Amino acid sequence: MQSRHCLRCVCIYQAKNRFNYRRKASAQQADETNRMGKRIIFCLFLMCLSLSFSLAETNILTTFYPMYILTQNVALDIEGVTVTNMAEQTVGCLHDYTLQTQDMVALEQADILVINGGGIEQFMERALAVQPDLPVVDASLGIEMEPSVEEGLLNAHVWMDPVLAEVQVKNIAGGLAAADPTHAEQYAANAEAYCSRLSEMDQELKAELAPLAGMNIITFHEAFNYFARRYGMNVAGVIATEPGEEPSTREIADTCDLVLDLGIRTLFVEPQYPKTAAEVIARETGASLYTLDPCVSGDGTPGNYEAIQRQNAEVLKEAFGL
Ligand SMILES: [Zn+2]
Repeated sequence: MQSRHCLRCVCIYQAKNRFNYRRKASAQQADETNRMGKRIIFCLFLMCLSLSFSLAETNILTTFYPMYILTQNVALDIEGVTVTNMAEQTVGCLHDYTLQTQDMVALEQADILVINGGGIEQFMERALAVQPDLPVVDASLGIEMEPSVEEGLLNAHVWMDPVLAEVQVKNIAGGLAAADPTHAEQYAANAEAYCSRLSEMDQELKAELAPLAGMNIITFHEAFNYFARRYGMNVAGVIATEPGEEPSTREIADTCDLVLDLGIRTLFVEPQYPKTAAEVIARETGASLYTLDPCVSGDGTPGNYEAIQRQNAEVLKEAFGL
């Protein structure tokens, strides 16, 4: 009985031992799991930390579409560099633009701002005054601009001449490199590649548009003066001196006279602006309407400036029956 009892005690003792052993083992396992969990959390923390360093971005802000496309090409495929356009891609030229709330937010988040210069971004002066430390890259540095049809202003549409666009690309690359030296080599390499593409396109357009040398054209606004000058054409007049505002009856009558005097057969409108006034002139003079695009809106892809310019050349050839 006793031996059975003893045996029972032994069994109980052994069972207790096994239970304690299991409890200890499971406690040890819990500790181990706990430690492992802490190690994983620590590793994740380190990974997040290094990721946040590798994602430390250079936020480049551009004022409007042509600057956005040129800058995108300069900053193409550079890790940690982003390019954002301030004015929406559909806005067009910035002649009557006023800063929006989201533009102010974008400005505050920007590390570098790329502008076209020549006064086209005049509306930003006050906003920039409150951010004196924001590096501003003037893409038109060193480019001599023609006077505008609007008194006291410059014609700032220099991006429309592919050769001057190359100068702008180089200015942008230089300005970005100065403000963000870490990526200087990549900016320079990208700019060189893009400039050689632009140069190739310029040669192409020069050959295609050679028969149009000396031709007078009338465009919607003064966006094509530099383009025309590059390829030997002459902008004899514009339909709207202040884009965004309908030309007056007097201005429309003057343009009609000019069209008839010069024997002009075609008028060029722009996709970003209404063509009501041009239609009136066309009706009065018998001229036809064609569309030239000043590259101030588009699909946002890096090749869009070249695509639009090639399309402009096609339109000109068609308009003049080439
Ligand atoms: Zn314009």
